[in-house]
Order: sequence, then structure tokens, then C-alpha cells
Amino acid sequence: MNALRTAADRLRAAIANGQGPADSDAAATIIESGAQAALAAGARGSLRPVLNATGVVIHTNLGRAPIAPVALERLAAIAAGYSNLEYDLAEGTRGSRTVHAESLLTTLTGAEAAVVVNNNAAATLLVLTGLAHGREVAISRGELVEIGGGFRVPDIMRQSGATLREVGTTNRTRVNDYTATVSAATAMFLRVHPSNFRIEGFTERPALADLVQAGRATGVPVMEDIGSGCLVSDLAGEPSVQASIAAGVDLVWFSGDKLLGGPQCGIIAGRKALVDPLRAHPLMRAVRVDKLTFAILEATLAEYVAGRASSTVPVQRMLHATAAEIETRAMALGEQLAARGWQIALMSGSSAVGGGSAPELGLPTVLLSISRGAESAAATEVWLRTLDPPIVARIEDDRVVLDLRTVLPEQDATLIGLLSQT
Ligand SMILES: *Cc1c(COP(=O)(O)O)cnc(C)c1O
Repeated sequence: MNALRTAADRLRAAIANGQGPADSDAAATIIESGAQAALAAGARGSLRPVLNATGVVIHTNLGRAPIAPVALERLAAIAAGYSNLEYDLAEGTRGSRTVHAESLLTTLTGAEAAVVVNNNAAATLLVLTGLAHGREVAISRGELVEIGGGFRVPDIMRQSGATLREVGTTNRTRVNDYTATVSAATAMFLRVHPSNFRIEGFTERPALADLVQAGRATGVPVMEDIGSGCLVSDLAGEPSVQASIAAGVDLVWFSGDKLLGGPQCGIIAGRKALVDPLRAHPLMRAVRVDKLTFAILEATLAEYVAGRASSTVPVQRMLHATAAEIETRAMALGEQLAARGWQIALMSGSSAVGGGSAPELGLPTVLLSISRGAESAAATEVWLRTLDPPIVARIEDDRVVLDLRTVLPEQDATLIGLLSQT
């Protein structure tokens, strides 16, 4: 009704200005010019698909990880009906949801046990509340980080009821700095991966193995917030989950929708004696995940177990794409756009991992620069965002550039279609 009334008002104003259509067209005009579009927009809600042509692979503002098609199939199968979410099929009795994804996670990481929560921030809160409430957590001054979106380690610490024991300095922290703080109140040595920045120059941070050894010697568990959840060891500078577990870290936690390329969630993995109390903690009920998350996560993890993730999990495929592969696509797309009146050029550039992972690691890419007539880059960039689906691009050297690394290959045709509506 509102949409019709607004369209009628607009038409009335146009007629008053002498710009209205012939009388017989009025009803059609009301419906077509406005009401239909307004209704469609109102009925679809606000969350929409967009094409990410920014080249930032884990783009938090654009929803982080695109989900693998095989995981979407599993999602559809689980979501459309009932499942054994909390049901023991062998016994015919109530079961526990916290067991799902665990065997895949322990197989992949080498950890004894694992549990999944809503996101990595929730994982940090649960671990600190469950294992350090009323006790002390020793952490390097160089790791008291803000990850983004207001996630600050000291704030979460306060929320959990744990006391922060800062050790070392911003740029240099040694094993002795940790051991010197140990008392009966010490709950853990905590390492936080400084995901989104690097301290350059005169720096020192204990090797994980040395910190683990110090923890063993003093009877203090060593825990690590690794952030990005890298399950493959070939991404420069990013610590893998397996490496932490192999180094003897007692508990690690990381995001499901960063380098892992799965659904939003937080994964806690490590010793069973530490994971089990978290499973049973009252806060677990508030941070648990639903069947949709388990469905996507298990199917995504299965791709890693099968050794196929680098080609089937979109985030992994994008990170592994070479500049030569991207150039081939950019050339093909460029030719089609040139035929539709765009001025195009290819230029070399760099894509970003994003999501606070590997901050200084630029991935070599080939950018497709597009322009039309005398339109400014800023105006073209705005126009791209008005399309349906919108295209989010970036401006570099005063040119609009598309980085196809983050455009799914199956979206190339959509991109051409959208850019044909000049
Ligand atoms: C990203 C990140 C977080 C927050 O993870 P979410 O899954 O976004 O809640 C926490 N710690 C580190 C080190 C991170 O990189």
C-alpha cells in the first residue's frame, strides 16, 4: 500500500509540473515506475549478494568466506529437514551437539579434542571465562591487540573475570618475562597472533616451542589465539593450527570463516582435559552454533581431509590463483567489455589476503582497469554499486580497477551482463 501511495504521490507531483503521462497511462505508470521497484526492494530485505572485485579475499565487510558448493549441498540437505543435531542414533537417546565436526578437526589438526562456538571472539571469551576466571593470564605487551570491530584483548579479559598480567615490552618479550610472573594464581600463558599488524625492527618474541617448554617446567598451560585458522602450511607468515598443536600448545582457537574458508564460527582445539570443561560450561549454551554452521563446517573440513581444499574451497582457490591465471580471465573479460564500449587496460597489481591475515603479504595479480567516455573514476565506482547485484571495486591511480581474484569464475558472465547496461 505504502509503495503504491508513494508512487501515486510522485506521479501527482509530476503531473502538477506538467511532466505527467497521458491520462490512460497513469495506472501503469504508478505500478511500473516506482511501486514495483519499491516493492521488490522492500520484500527482499537488506542483505544482498555483491560481486567482490576488490581483490581482498577475506573481506569482513563483504561477508568474509564464500562457501564451497559442496558445503552448500550439505547445508541444503541438513537445513531442509530434521537431523541428528542432538540425537544419538545408535542409542535412540538424547545426544550432544558439541561432538559434531570434532573428529574431522582432530584428524586435521592433531589435537585430542575440539569444540565449535559462534566465532573466535566467543572462543576467547569462553576459554578465559571457563579456564581463567578469578585467576591470572600472562600475555606479552606486544600482543595486547585490537583485532577490529572493537575486539580488544584487554576488554575480553575483563569481561571474563580473568586478571591480565602484562609481561615484557611492546617490541621485546622473552621466556623469562613469562616465567617471572608465575604464581599459584597463574592460569595460563596466552599468545595472541598479531593478525593485522607487524612490529618491525628491534623485536623479540619467544619461539612457541620455548614458551611451551617454560610452561611445562612451571606447570602452566600455554594457549594461543591464532586468529585466522590456517590449516595449510604454505601461506607465508601465517601460523598453521597443526604447527601450534605439534609444538605442544595446550589449547588453540581460531576463526572458521577466515583462511579456513568455512562458516562464521570459532574453533577451540587442544587437550581433552581443557576442552571438556568448556563443553560443559554454562556460557557454552550462549555461544553454541546451529545445525547450519555444523553442516557447512563439516563439509568444508572434509575437503581438507580429502586434500582437495585448494581447488574446492573458494578462499583457498582464490589465494592459490596465480597472476597468469587471473590475467587470462582479465583479458577475456576485457575484450568483451571493449566490444561494449568500455575503455579497458590491464595492469599488474596486488591482492590482499584480508581478514587480518598476513598483513604484509601482497599476492601478485593482474587488474582490469575500466572507464567509459569522460566519466570520472569516482562516478563509475558509485555506478557499479547501484547495479543488481552491486559490484564493489577499488580505485587505484585514479582509475577504477577490478581484481578478478575475488570474483568467482562462474560470476564472470554476470559481470559482463551488468557492465553491458551502460
Ligand atoms: C579475527 C580474529 C579474532 C576475532 O575472530 P572472529 O571470528 O571475527 O570473532 C580474534 N583474534 C584474532 C587473533 C583474530 O585474528
